[in-house]
Amino acid sequence: MVIVYSDDKKLTFELLSKGSELAKGLGKKLTAVIIGKADDNLAKEYISFGADNVFIAETSIDSFKAEEYTDILGNIVKETSAETILIGSNKNGKELASRLAGKINAGCVIDSTNVYLKDKKLTAERVVYSGNAIAVEQFNSKPCIVTVPSKVFDPLKKDGGRKGEIVKKKIEVEKSASKILKVQDMKTGDVNVEDAEIIVSCGRGFKNKDDIKLVDELAKVLKGKTVGCSRPIAADLKWLSEDHWIGLSGHKVKPKLYIAAGISGQIQHIAGMRDSGIIVAINKDSEALIFKSADYGIVGDLYEVLPKLTNAVKEKMG
Ligand SMILES: Cc1cc2nc3c(=O)[nH]c(=O)nc-3n(C[C@H](O)[C@H](O)[C@H](O)COP(=O)(O)OP(=O)(O)OC[C@H]3O[C@@H](n4cnc5c(N)ncnc54)[C@H](O)[C@@H]3O)c2cc1C
Repeated sequence: MVIVYSDDKKLTFELLSKGSELAKGLGKKLTAVIIGKADDNLAKEYISFGADNVFIAETSIDSFKAEEYTDILGNIVKETSAETILIGSNKNGKELASRLAGKINAGCVIDSTNVYLKDKKLTAERVVYSGNAIAVEQFNSKPCIVTVPSKVFDPLKKDGGRKGEIVKKKIEVEKSASKILKVQDMKTGDVNVEDAEIIVSCGRGFKNKDDIKLVDELAKVLKGKTVGCSRPIAADLKWLSEDHWIGLSGHKVKPKLYIAAGISGQIQHIAGMRDSGIIVAINKDSEALIFKSADYGIVGDLYEVLPKLTNAVKEKMG
């Protein structure tokens, strides 16, 4: 059995896509797990995105607590005899996966960027050494746990005609000794680079904070309205908030179009945007690394290129 779990619905769709490929390769069924209230609509959605079955663990626990969720997922793994477990790699998912690995004595690869079967063994890749190398890790024992961040895999096309079994089971576990005193939403702006279809990003090639309006203007005429940036712009210069920061230690993005202006293309930046559909780079240095990752490269001064590009797009789009 292959099971997938995330508290993030979109991420679960993406895991189901990879999970169904693995389940086929292993000749096993794919089960999506829901923990909490029995949500039949969500279960049906998971089936339409590739799950063969959905296991709903009904519990009175109303919010995530790693110790309790570990016990619940541990019970499900036992009950379903799951050997391959894919977990969404967000904050909760990573803690859950590592605790579960300890509890069921399983191997665990965190933040995998690819998962596949090689010689019938589960193999996972992850980025190491600040993005300078890819570690390829193979499981020699079962169960195997892999966490996968969002945007690594594309979800399958929704098929409303798919049928699957929905199993509901009440699972109560021992209350954890820890107590959550307060849950506070993280303060973020209205920027969501992770879901953007078009991103125009700026880097240290910009001389002043005010000049960022050049990327803003291009983003606006492209109707993408999303501005991204390299780390120095958010972390060192603080010209933009961290919501805009793209890369290994920032946000991982996968827009249809990514335009990088005045960004050199260091591996840590590339790690966050390499899966974009079309990459356009603007840099005055023809030897800049960014051109190696770009589909289209414009060698030129961004202060001349960006206004021209904005006007050209304006004319084209009317
Ligand atoms: C552990 C670790 C994690 C990191 N994580 C991230 C991350 O998540 N995201 C990230 O971005 N970086 C990250 N970095 C930093 C990364 O290594 C680079 O330092 C950073 O990406 C460089 O940013 P930049 O390209 O904007 O600046 P620079 O490398 O200084 O490049 C500026 C570019 O602008 C060009 N330029 C200058 N003037 C003009 C002009 N007028 N017109 C056109 N082009 C011009 C230059 O030719 C140059 O290529 C990380 C580093 C480490 C060690």
